[in-house]
Amino acid sequence: MTTVQAPRSGAAKSGVETFDSLDPATDEVVGTYPVHTAEDVEAAVARAREAARWWDSLGFEGRAERLRRWKGIVARRLSELCDVVSKETGKPTGDAQLEAVLAIEHIAWAAKHARKVLGRQRRSPGLLLSNQAATVEYQPLGVVGVIGPWNYPVFTPLGSISYALAAGNAVVFKPSEYTPGVGKWLVDAFAEAVPEQPVLQLVTGYGATGAALTKSGVDKIAFTGSTATGKKIMAAAAETLTPVVIEAGGKDPVLVDADADLDAAAEATVWGAFSNSGQTCVGVERVYVHERVYDEFVAKVVERAGTVRAGTGEGAHYGPMTMPAQLDVVRRHIADALARGGRALVGGADAVGDRYVEPTVLVDVPEDSLAVREETFGPTVTIAKVRDMDEAVAKANDSCYGLGSTVFAKRRGMELARRLRTGQTAINAPLSFAGIASLPFGGVGDSGFGRIHGPEGLREFARAKAIARQRFTAPLALTTFARTK
Ligand code: NAD
Repeated sequence: MTTVQAPRSGAAKSGVETFDSLDPATDEVVGTYPVHTAEDVEAAVARAREAARWWDSLGFEGRAERLRRWKGIVARRLSELCDVVSKETGKPTGDAQLEAVLAIEHIAWAAKHARKVLGRQRRSPGLLLSNQAATVEYQPLGVVGVIGPWNYPVFTPLGSISYALAAGNAVVFKPSEYTPGVGKWLVDAFAEAVPEQPVLQLVTGYGATGAALTKSGVDKIAFTGSTATGKKIMAAAAETLTPVVIEAGGKDPVLVDADADLDAAAEATVWGAFSNSGQTCVGVERVYVHERVYDEFVAKVVERAGTVRAGTGEGAHYGPMTMPAQLDVVRRHIADALARGGRALVGGADAVGDRYVEPTVLVDVPEDSLAVREETFGPTVTIAKVRDMDEAVAKANDSCYGLGSTVFAKRRGMELARRLRTGQTAINAPLSFAGIASLPFGGVGDSGFGRIHGPEGLREFARAKAIARQRFTAPLALTTFARTK
Protein backbone atom coordinates (compact mmCIF):
# COMPACT_ATOMS: atom_id res chain seq x y z
CA MET A 1 0.00 0.00 0.00
CA THR A 2 1.46 3.41 -0.98
CA THR A 3 0.83 6.43 1.17
CA VAL A 4 1.23 9.97 -0.14
CA GLN A 5 0.66 13.28 1.62
CA ALA A 6 -2.10 15.70 0.80
CA PRO A 7 -0.17 18.06 -1.49
CA ARG A 8 1.04 15.19 -3.68
CA SER A 9 -1.08 13.43 -6.22
CA GLY A 10 -0.52 10.33 -8.27
CA ALA A 11 -2.18 7.64 -10.35
CA ALA A 12 -4.47 5.56 -8.21
CA LYS A 13 -5.74 2.01 -8.36
CA SER A 14 -8.95 1.21 -6.53
CA GLY A 15 -8.33 0.26 -2.91
CA VAL A 16 -4.57 0.56 -3.26
CA GLU A 17 -3.60 4.17 -2.82
CA THR A 18 -4.23 6.34 0.21
CA PHE A 19 -3.34 9.87 1.24
CA ASP A 20 -2.68 11.54 4.56
CA SER A 21 -4.38 14.59 5.89
CA LEU A 22 -1.98 16.73 7.91
CA ASP A 23 -2.21 19.27 10.72
CA PRO A 24 -0.84 22.41 9.00
CA ALA A 25 0.56 23.71 12.29
CA THR A 26 2.73 20.63 12.91
CA ASP A 27 2.60 18.38 9.79
CA GLU A 28 1.38 15.63 12.10
CA VAL A 29 -0.74 13.03 10.28
CA VAL A 30 -4.38 13.50 11.30
CA GLY A 31 -5.89 10.71 9.24
CA THR A 32 -5.44 8.46 6.21
CA TYR A 33 -8.05 8.19 3.46
CA PRO A 34 -8.53 6.30 0.22
CA VAL A 35 -7.87 7.93 -3.14
CA HIS A 36 -11.12 6.99 -4.84
CA THR A 37 -10.86 6.10 -8.52
CA ALA A 38 -13.33 6.76 -11.34
CA GLU A 39 -14.79 3.25 -10.77
CA ASP A 40 -15.26 3.96 -7.05
CA VAL A 41 -16.98 7.23 -7.90
CA GLU A 42 -19.28 5.57 -10.42
CA ALA A 43 -20.22 2.91 -7.87
CA ALA A 44 -21.03 5.62 -5.31
CA VAL A 45 -23.20 7.46 -7.84
CA ALA A 46 -25.03 4.22 -8.70
CA ARG A 47 -25.75 3.58 -5.00
CA ALA A 48 -26.87 7.18 -4.59
CA ARG A 49 -29.24 6.84 -7.55
CA GLU A 50 -30.97 3.91 -5.84
CA ALA A 51 -31.14 5.82 -2.55
CA ALA A 52 -32.49 8.93 -4.29
CA ARG A 53 -35.74 7.13 -5.16
CA TRP A 54 -36.38 6.26 -1.53
CA TRP A 55 -35.37 9.72 -0.33
CA ASP A 56 -37.72 11.38 -2.85
CA SER A 57 -40.57 9.08 -1.76
CA LEU A 58 -40.31 10.39 1.81
CA GLY A 59 -41.71 13.76 0.74
CA PHE A 60 -40.80 17.11 2.27
CA GLU A 61 -41.84 16.21 5.82
CA GLY A 62 -40.10 12.83 5.89
CA ARG A 63 -36.89 14.39 4.66
CA ALA A 64 -37.15 17.39 6.99
CA GLU A 65 -37.55 15.10 10.00
CA ARG A 66 -34.38 13.19 9.07
CA LEU A 67 -32.44 16.36 8.26
CA ARG A 68 -33.36 17.67 11.73
CA ARG A 69 -32.01 14.43 13.22
CA TRP A 70 -28.74 15.05 11.40
CA LYS A 71 -28.67 18.65 12.61
CA GLY A 72 -29.21 17.38 16.17
CA ILE A 73 -26.22 15.05 15.98
CA VAL A 74 -23.98 17.80 14.56
CA ALA A 75 -25.12 20.24 17.26
CA ARG A 76 -24.66 17.75 20.10
CA ARG A 77 -21.14 16.81 18.97
CA LEU A 78 -20.09 20.26 17.89
CA SER A 79 -16.84 20.27 19.87
CA GLU A 80 -15.81 16.92 18.35
CA LEU A 81 -16.45 18.30 14.85
CA CYS A 82 -14.62 21.57 15.61
CA ASP A 83 -11.66 19.58 16.81
CA VAL A 84 -11.37 17.84 13.42
CA VAL A 85 -11.80 21.21 11.64
CA SER A 86 -9.05 22.86 13.72
CA LYS A 87 -6.69 19.92 13.25
CA GLU A 88 -7.09 19.82 9.46
CA THR A 89 -7.20 23.56 8.75
CA GLY A 90 -5.21 25.01 11.66
CA LYS A 91 -7.96 27.54 12.46
CA PRO A 92 -8.65 28.53 16.08
CA THR A 93 -11.51 26.71 17.82
CA GLY A 94 -13.66 29.87 17.89
CA ASP A 95 -13.52 30.15 14.10
CA ALA A 96 -14.32 26.46 13.71
CA GLN A 97 -17.34 26.93 16.01
CA LEU A 98 -18.55 29.90 13.99
CA GLU A 99 -18.61 27.98 10.73
CA ALA A 100 -20.17 24.91 12.37
CA VAL A 101 -23.02 27.02 13.79
CA LEU A 102 -23.62 28.61 10.38
CA ALA A 103 -23.68 25.13 8.86
CA ILE A 104 -26.25 23.90 11.38
CA GLU A 105 -28.45 26.83 10.40
CA HIS A 106 -28.23 25.77 6.76
CA ILE A 107 -29.52 22.28 7.58
CA ALA A 108 -32.34 23.73 9.70
CA TRP A 109 -33.34 26.39 7.17
CA ALA A 110 -33.38 24.03 4.21
CA ALA A 111 -35.43 21.45 6.14
CA LYS A 112 -37.95 24.04 7.32
CA HIS A 113 -38.50 25.92 4.05
CA ALA A 114 -38.25 23.26 1.33
CA ARG A 115 -42.02 22.59 1.17
CA LYS A 116 -42.93 26.28 0.99
CA VAL A 117 -40.38 27.04 -1.71
CA LEU A 118 -40.57 23.86 -3.78
CA GLY A 119 -44.12 22.62 -3.16
CA ARG A 120 -46.73 22.61 -5.93
CA GLN A 121 -47.81 26.08 -7.02
CA ARG A 122 -50.89 27.11 -9.00
CA ARG A 123 -50.24 29.45 -11.93
CA SER A 124 -52.56 31.35 -14.23
CA PRO A 125 -52.73 29.51 -17.56
CA GLY A 126 -53.53 32.77 -19.43
CA LEU A 127 -56.45 33.68 -21.62
CA LEU A 128 -55.76 31.12 -24.33
CA LEU A 129 -55.72 28.17 -21.93
CA SER A 130 -58.35 29.50 -19.55
CA ASN A 131 -60.04 26.09 -19.67
CA GLN A 132 -57.01 24.50 -18.02
CA ALA A 133 -55.57 24.33 -14.50
CA ALA A 134 -51.85 25.00 -14.50
CA THR A 135 -49.38 24.03 -11.80
CA VAL A 136 -45.63 24.11 -11.35
CA GLU A 137 -43.79 21.70 -9.13
CA TYR A 138 -40.12 21.52 -8.33
CA GLN A 139 -38.88 17.97 -8.71
CA PRO A 140 -35.53 16.69 -7.45
CA LEU A 141 -32.77 16.40 -10.04
CA GLY A 142 -31.65 12.94 -8.85
CA VAL A 143 -28.02 12.78 -7.73
CA VAL A 144 -26.00 15.93 -7.04
CA GLY A 145 -22.20 15.90 -6.88
CA VAL A 146 -20.82 18.39 -4.35
CA ILE A 147 -17.12 19.30 -4.60
CA GLY A 148 -15.78 21.36 -1.70
CA PRO A 149 -12.77 23.48 -0.69
CA TRP A 150 -10.69 23.38 2.51
CA ASN A 151 -11.04 26.93 3.85
CA TYR A 152 -14.50 26.48 5.40
CA PRO A 153 -14.84 22.69 5.18
CA VAL A 154 -18.13 22.47 7.12
CA PHE A 155 -20.29 25.39 6.18
CA THR A 156 -19.22 25.72 2.54
CA PRO A 157 -20.22 22.21 1.43
CA LEU A 158 -23.26 22.15 3.72
CA GLY A 159 -24.41 25.38 2.02
CA SER A 160 -25.06 23.14 -1.01
CA ILE A 161 -25.56 19.67 0.50
CA SER A 162 -28.38 20.69 2.91
CA TYR A 163 -30.38 22.36 0.14
CA ALA A 164 -29.79 19.54 -2.37
CA LEU A 165 -30.97 16.97 0.20
CA ALA A 166 -33.99 19.01 1.29
CA ALA A 167 -34.99 19.31 -2.37
CA GLY A 168 -35.10 15.49 -2.57
CA ASN A 169 -31.75 14.64 -4.15
CA ALA A 170 -29.13 12.15 -3.07
CA VAL A 171 -25.62 13.61 -2.83
CA VAL A 172 -22.11 12.33 -3.50
CA PHE A 173 -19.68 14.61 -1.68
CA LYS A 174 -16.00 15.06 -2.53
CA PRO A 175 -14.30 17.20 0.16
CA SER A 176 -10.93 18.87 -0.36
CA GLU A 177 -7.88 16.63 -0.09
CA TYR A 178 -6.82 18.90 2.80
CA THR A 179 -9.96 18.27 4.84
CA PRO A 180 -11.16 14.69 4.18
CA GLY A 181 -11.60 14.05 7.91
CA VAL A 182 -14.17 16.85 8.21
CA GLY A 183 -16.03 15.46 5.18
CA LYS A 184 -16.04 11.95 6.65
CA TRP A 185 -17.27 13.23 10.02
CA LEU A 186 -20.25 14.99 8.40
CA VAL A 187 -21.18 12.03 6.21
CA ASP A 188 -20.87 9.56 9.13
CA ALA A 189 -23.14 11.80 11.23
CA PHE A 190 -25.69 11.77 8.41
CA ALA A 191 -25.51 7.97 8.15
CA GLU A 192 -26.23 7.79 11.88
CA ALA A 193 -29.29 10.01 11.44
CA VAL A 194 -30.45 8.26 8.26
CA PRO A 195 -29.24 4.65 8.44
CA GLU A 196 -31.78 3.29 5.95
CA GLN A 197 -30.12 4.23 2.64
CA PRO A 198 -26.82 5.81 1.48
CA VAL A 199 -28.42 9.12 0.59
CA LEU A 200 -25.26 11.10 1.33
CA GLN A 201 -22.01 9.48 0.31
CA LEU A 202 -18.38 10.42 0.56
CA VAL A 203 -15.64 10.05 -2.04
CA THR A 204 -12.13 11.18 -1.14
CA GLY A 205 -9.01 11.96 -3.10
CA TYR A 206 -7.37 14.68 -5.18
CA GLY A 207 -8.62 16.68 -8.14
CA ALA A 208 -8.84 13.52 -10.27
CA THR A 209 -11.56 12.16 -7.96
CA GLY A 210 -13.50 15.44 -8.37
CA ALA A 211 -12.99 15.23 -12.14
CA ALA A 212 -14.36 11.67 -12.11
CA LEU A 213 -17.42 12.88 -10.18
CA THR A 214 -17.99 15.63 -12.76
CA LYS A 215 -17.97 13.04 -15.56
CA SER A 216 -19.92 10.37 -13.68
CA GLY A 217 -23.37 11.22 -15.01
CA VAL A 218 -24.60 13.03 -11.88
CA ASP A 219 -27.51 15.38 -12.50
CA LYS A 220 -25.72 18.49 -11.26
CA ILE A 221 -22.34 19.53 -9.90
CA ALA A 222 -22.19 22.09 -7.08
CA PHE A 223 -18.61 23.29 -6.95
CA THR A 224 -16.93 25.61 -4.46
CA GLY A 225 -13.25 26.32 -4.96
CA SER A 226 -10.85 28.24 -7.15
CA THR A 227 -11.79 29.91 -10.43
CA ALA A 228 -9.19 27.81 -12.31
CA THR A 229 -10.79 24.55 -11.13
CA GLY A 230 -14.27 25.95 -11.76
CA LYS A 231 -13.34 26.50 -15.41
CA LYS A 232 -12.03 22.94 -15.72
CA ILE A 233 -15.22 21.56 -14.18
CA MET A 234 -17.40 23.60 -16.51
CA ALA A 235 -15.43 22.42 -19.56
CA ALA A 236 -15.72 18.77 -18.47
CA ALA A 237 -19.41 19.12 -17.60
CA ALA A 238 -20.09 20.59 -21.06
CA GLU A 239 -19.35 17.15 -22.58
CA THR A 240 -22.48 15.69 -20.99
CA LEU A 241 -24.44 18.96 -20.58
CA THR A 242 -24.28 18.38 -16.83
CA PRO A 243 -25.49 21.60 -15.17
CA VAL A 244 -23.13 23.25 -12.71
CA VAL A 245 -23.25 25.86 -10.00
CA ILE A 246 -19.85 27.47 -9.53
CA GLU A 247 -18.84 29.31 -6.34
CA ALA A 248 -15.31 30.49 -7.01
CA GLY A 249 -12.68 32.99 -5.91
CA GLY A 250 -12.93 36.67 -5.06
CA LYS A 251 -11.02 39.93 -4.63
CA ASP A 252 -13.43 41.77 -2.37
CA PRO A 253 -13.22 45.56 -2.14
CA VAL A 254 -14.24 47.87 0.70
CA LEU A 255 -15.30 51.44 -0.17
CA VAL A 256 -14.89 54.16 2.45
CA ASP A 257 -16.68 57.45 1.77
CA ALA A 258 -15.72 60.79 3.34
CA ASP A 259 -18.66 60.68 5.79
CA ALA A 260 -18.07 57.07 6.90
CA ASP A 261 -17.68 55.89 10.49
CA LEU A 262 -13.92 55.32 10.18
CA ASP A 263 -13.59 53.22 13.33
CA ALA A 264 -16.24 50.80 12.08
CA ALA A 265 -14.68 50.75 8.60
CA ALA A 266 -11.18 50.09 9.99
CA GLU A 267 -12.50 47.35 12.28
CA ALA A 268 -14.32 45.64 9.40
CA THR A 269 -11.26 45.92 7.17
CA VAL A 270 -8.96 44.34 9.73
CA TRP A 271 -11.40 41.54 10.55
CA GLY A 272 -12.25 40.91 6.89
CA ALA A 273 -8.62 40.91 5.74
CA PHE A 274 -6.99 38.83 8.47
CA SER A 275 -9.53 36.44 9.97
CA ASN A 276 -9.00 32.82 8.93
CA SER A 277 -5.50 33.93 7.77
CA GLY A 278 -7.22 35.77 4.91
CA GLN A 279 -8.26 32.40 3.50
CA THR A 280 -11.84 33.49 2.96
CA CYS A 281 -13.56 33.77 -0.42
CA VAL A 282 -15.23 37.01 0.76
CA GLY A 283 -12.13 38.19 2.62
CA VAL A 284 -11.25 41.88 2.25
CA GLU A 285 -8.34 42.24 -0.18
CA ARG A 286 -8.65 45.84 -1.48
CA VAL A 287 -9.81 49.11 0.10
CA TYR A 288 -10.64 52.37 -1.74
CA VAL A 289 -10.82 55.41 0.53
CA HIS A 290 -12.01 58.97 -0.16
CA GLU A 291 -8.96 61.28 -0.14
CA ARG A 292 -10.46 63.49 2.59
CA VAL A 293 -10.31 60.67 5.15
CA TYR A 294 -7.54 58.51 3.70
CA ASP A 295 -4.77 59.38 6.20
CA GLU A 296 -7.03 59.03 9.22
CA PHE A 297 -8.45 55.71 8.00
CA VAL A 298 -5.01 54.26 7.21
CA ALA A 299 -3.75 55.21 10.68
CA LYS A 300 -6.72 53.42 12.28
CA VAL A 301 -6.14 50.26 10.22
CA VAL A 302 -2.42 50.26 10.99
CA GLU A 303 -3.07 50.66 14.71
CA ARG A 304 -5.52 47.76 14.78
CA ALA A 305 -3.50 45.51 12.46
CA GLY A 306 -0.53 45.92 14.78
CA THR A 307 -2.46 44.10 17.51
CA VAL A 308 -3.43 41.08 15.39
CA ARG A 309 -1.43 37.94 16.04
CA ALA A 310 -0.88 34.82 13.90
CA GLY A 311 -0.18 31.62 15.80
CA THR A 312 -1.79 28.81 17.73
CA GLY A 313 -3.45 28.63 21.12
CA GLU A 314 -4.54 31.37 23.49
CA GLY A 315 -4.31 34.91 22.13
CA ALA A 316 -3.82 33.96 18.47
CA HIS A 317 -6.29 35.63 16.11
CA TYR A 318 -5.69 33.26 13.26
CA GLY A 319 -3.69 30.14 12.48
CA PRO A 320 -1.24 28.87 9.87
CA MET A 321 -1.84 28.85 6.14
CA THR A 322 -3.71 25.59 5.55
CA MET A 323 -2.17 24.85 2.17
CA PRO A 324 1.63 25.23 2.03
CA ALA A 325 1.55 26.25 -1.67
CA GLN A 326 -0.44 29.34 -0.68
CA LEU A 327 2.60 30.72 1.16
CA ASP A 328 4.35 31.18 -2.20
CA VAL A 329 1.36 33.01 -3.68
CA VAL A 330 1.25 35.46 -0.76
CA ARG A 331 5.04 35.95 -0.87
CA ARG A 332 4.90 36.66 -4.63
CA HIS A 333 2.05 39.18 -4.28
CA ILE A 334 3.79 41.11 -1.50
CA ALA A 335 7.14 41.12 -3.36
CA ASP A 336 5.49 42.31 -6.57
CA ALA A 337 3.67 45.13 -4.74
CA LEU A 338 6.90 46.30 -3.05
CA ALA A 339 8.90 46.04 -6.29
CA ARG A 340 6.38 48.32 -8.02
CA GLY A 341 6.66 51.11 -5.48
CA GLY A 342 4.17 49.86 -2.89
CA ARG A 343 4.94 50.31 0.83
CA ALA A 344 4.16 47.92 3.67
CA LEU A 345 2.91 49.84 6.73
CA VAL A 346 2.43 46.59 8.65
CA GLY A 347 4.14 43.29 7.82
CA GLY A 348 5.73 43.13 4.36
CA ALA A 349 8.50 41.10 2.78
CA ASP A 350 9.35 39.27 6.02
CA ALA A 351 5.73 38.57 6.95
CA VAL A 352 5.64 35.18 5.23
CA GLY A 353 7.20 32.45 7.37
CA ASP A 354 7.29 28.67 7.06
CA ARG A 355 3.68 28.22 8.12
CA TYR A 356 2.30 31.56 9.26
CA VAL A 357 1.88 34.94 7.56
CA GLU A 358 1.88 38.07 9.72
CA PRO A 359 -0.77 40.70 8.91
CA THR A 360 0.34 42.91 6.03
CA VAL A 361 -1.07 46.34 5.10
CA LEU A 362 0.10 47.69 1.73
CA VAL A 363 -0.33 51.22 0.34
CA ASP A 364 0.70 53.01 -2.89
CA VAL A 365 0.32 49.72 -4.76
CA PRO A 366 -0.29 50.17 -8.53
CA GLU A 367 -3.67 48.91 -9.69
CA ASP A 368 -2.08 46.49 -12.17
CA SER A 369 -0.01 44.66 -9.53
CA LEU A 370 -0.73 41.08 -8.47
CA ALA A 371 -1.91 42.14 -4.99
CA VAL A 372 -4.72 44.19 -6.58
CA ARG A 373 -5.64 42.01 -9.55
CA GLU A 374 -5.34 38.38 -8.39
CA GLU A 375 -6.84 36.60 -5.42
CA THR A 376 -4.13 36.55 -2.71
CA PHE A 377 -6.02 34.39 -0.20
CA GLY A 378 -3.72 35.43 2.63
CA PRO A 379 -3.72 38.01 5.45
CA THR A 380 -2.83 41.00 3.27
CA VAL A 381 -4.77 44.08 2.21
CA THR A 382 -4.08 47.00 -0.15
CA ILE A 383 -5.41 50.48 0.64
CA ALA A 384 -5.72 53.11 -2.13
CA LYS A 385 -6.71 56.77 -2.11
CA VAL A 386 -9.48 57.92 -4.50
CA ARG A 387 -10.66 61.43 -5.51
CA ASP A 388 -14.34 60.56 -5.13
CA MET A 389 -16.68 57.60 -4.84
CA ASP A 390 -17.19 57.34 -8.62
CA GLU A 391 -13.52 56.51 -8.90
CA ALA A 392 -13.88 54.07 -6.00
CA VAL A 393 -16.76 52.25 -7.73
CA ALA A 394 -14.90 52.18 -11.06
CA LYS A 395 -11.77 50.71 -9.46
CA ALA A 396 -13.71 48.24 -7.34
CA ASN A 397 -15.57 47.02 -10.43
CA ASP A 398 -12.42 46.84 -12.55
CA SER A 399 -11.83 43.22 -11.55
CA CYS A 400 -12.52 39.87 -13.14
CA TYR A 401 -14.01 38.85 -9.77
CA GLY A 402 -17.34 39.88 -8.29
CA LEU A 403 -18.08 37.96 -5.11
CA GLY A 404 -18.60 40.31 -2.16
CA SER A 405 -18.09 43.99 -1.36
CA THR A 406 -18.58 46.39 1.54
CA VAL A 407 -19.48 50.07 1.64
CA PHE A 408 -18.94 52.46 4.53
CA ALA A 409 -20.91 55.67 3.84
CA LYS A 410 -23.55 57.54 5.82
CA ARG A 411 -25.37 59.25 2.97
CA ARG A 412 -24.78 57.23 -0.20
CA GLY A 413 -24.50 53.66 1.15
CA MET A 414 -27.41 52.13 -0.76
CA GLU A 415 -26.58 53.90 -4.04
CA LEU A 416 -22.94 52.75 -3.93
CA ALA A 417 -23.92 49.22 -2.94
CA ARG A 418 -26.23 48.91 -5.95
CA ARG A 419 -23.48 50.05 -8.32
CA LEU A 420 -20.99 47.40 -7.19
CA ARG A 421 -20.77 44.40 -9.52
CA THR A 422 -20.78 41.70 -6.83
CA GLY A 423 -23.20 39.03 -5.67
CA GLN A 424 -23.54 40.55 -2.18
CA THR A 425 -22.72 43.86 -0.53
CA ALA A 426 -22.70 44.91 3.12
CA ILE A 427 -23.33 48.53 4.13
CA ASN A 428 -21.70 49.99 7.27
CA ALA A 429 -20.90 46.53 8.68
CA PRO A 430 -18.54 43.70 7.78
CA LEU A 431 -19.73 41.30 5.10
CA SER A 432 -20.58 38.72 7.73
CA PHE A 433 -23.93 37.73 6.22
CA ALA A 434 -22.31 35.72 3.41
CA GLY A 435 -23.01 32.48 5.23
CA ILE A 436 -26.53 33.29 6.42
CA ALA A 437 -29.06 30.65 5.48
CA SER A 438 -31.94 32.81 4.24
CA LEU A 439 -29.96 34.99 1.78
CA PRO A 440 -28.83 33.92 -1.68
CA PHE A 441 -25.07 33.70 -2.09
CA GLY A 442 -23.03 33.67 -5.28
CA GLY A 443 -20.76 35.53 -7.62
CA VAL A 444 -20.45 37.54 -10.80
CA GLY A 445 -17.77 37.04 -13.50
CA ASP A 446 -14.84 34.87 -12.43
CA SER A 447 -16.41 34.44 -8.98
CA GLY A 448 -18.87 32.05 -10.57
CA PHE A 449 -22.60 31.81 -11.16
CA GLY A 450 -25.73 30.29 -9.72
CA ARG A 451 -26.96 30.97 -6.21
CA ILE A 452 -26.78 28.80 -3.11
CA HIS A 453 -28.54 29.34 0.27
CA GLY A 454 -32.08 30.59 0.77
CA PRO A 455 -35.00 29.91 -1.60
CA GLU A 456 -32.68 30.46 -4.57
CA GLY A 457 -30.42 27.73 -3.20
CA LEU A 458 -33.29 25.26 -2.92
CA ARG A 459 -34.41 25.96 -6.50
CA GLU A 460 -30.82 25.48 -7.70
CA PHE A 461 -31.26 21.77 -6.88
CA ALA A 462 -34.73 21.25 -8.34
CA ARG A 463 -36.24 21.03 -11.79
CA ALA A 464 -39.30 23.17 -12.47
CA LYS A 465 -41.98 21.07 -14.08
CA ALA A 466 -45.09 22.69 -15.56
CA ILE A 467 -48.32 20.68 -15.82
CA ALA A 468 -51.55 21.99 -17.31
CA ARG A 469 -54.75 19.88 -17.06
CA GLN A 470 -57.82 20.55 -19.18
CA ARG A 471 -60.95 21.17 -17.10
CA PHE A 472 -63.48 21.66 -19.91
CA THR A 473 -63.45 21.87 -23.71
CA ALA A 474 -62.00 25.14 -24.92
CA PRO A 475 -64.14 27.50 -26.93
CA LEU A 476 -61.08 29.01 -28.58
CA ALA A 477 -59.58 28.29 -32.01
CA LEU A 478 -56.46 26.60 -30.71
CA THR A 479 -58.21 23.29 -30.16
CA THR A 480 -60.76 23.45 -33.02
CA PHE A 481 -58.22 22.49 -35.70
CA ALA A 482 -58.05 18.93 -34.43
CA ARG A 483 -61.84 18.66 -34.25
CA THR A 484 -62.51 20.01 -37.77
CA LYS A 485 -59.88 17.82 -39.48
P1 NAD B 1 -9.48 24.16 -5.49
O1 NAD B 1 -10.14 24.65 -6.73
O2 NAD B 1 -8.02 23.88 -5.54
O3 NAD B 1 -10.16 22.79 -4.98
C1 NAD B 1 -11.53 22.71 -4.67
C2 NAD B 1 -11.99 21.28 -4.85
O4 NAD B 1 -11.94 20.94 -6.24
C3 NAD B 1 -11.14 20.24 -4.13
O5 NAD B 1 -12.00 19.28 -3.55
C4 NAD B 1 -10.30 19.65 -5.24
O6 NAD B 1 -9.87 18.34 -4.99
C5 NAD B 1 -11.29 19.69 -6.38
N1 NAD B 1 -10.69 19.64 -7.74
C6 NAD B 1 -9.45 20.03 -8.11
N2 NAD B 1 -9.31 19.84 -9.45
C7 NAD B 1 -10.47 19.34 -9.91
C8 NAD B 1 -10.95 18.97 -11.21
N3 NAD B 1 -10.21 19.09 -12.30
N4 NAD B 1 -12.22 18.52 -11.31
C9 NAD B 1 -13.03 18.44 -10.23
N5 NAD B 1 -12.62 18.77 -8.97
C10 NAD B 1 -11.36 19.22 -8.81
O7 NAD B 1 -9.83 25.22 -4.36
P2 NAD B 1 -9.33 25.23 -2.86
O8 NAD B 1 -7.90 25.61 -2.84
O9 NAD B 1 -9.76 23.99 -2.18
O10 NAD B 1 -10.21 26.42 -2.23
C11 NAD B 1 -9.81 27.76 -2.25
C12 NAD B 1 -10.58 28.52 -3.31
O11 NAD B 1 -11.96 28.36 -3.08
C13 NAD B 1 -10.34 30.01 -3.27
O12 NAD B 1 -10.20 30.50 -4.58
C14 NAD B 1 -11.62 30.56 -2.64
O13 NAD B 1 -11.92 31.88 -2.98
C15 NAD B 1 -12.62 29.61 -3.17
N6 NAD B 1 -13.83 29.59 -2.33
C16 NAD B 1 -14.96 30.11 -2.84
C17 NAD B 1 -16.11 30.15 -2.08
C18 NAD B 1 -17.40 30.70 -2.62
O14 NAD B 1 -18.42 30.42 -2.03
N7 NAD B 1 -17.38 31.46 -3.68
C19 NAD B 1 -16.09 29.62 -0.77
C20 NAD B 1 -14.91 29.09 -0.29
C21 NAD B 1 -13.78 29.07 -1.08
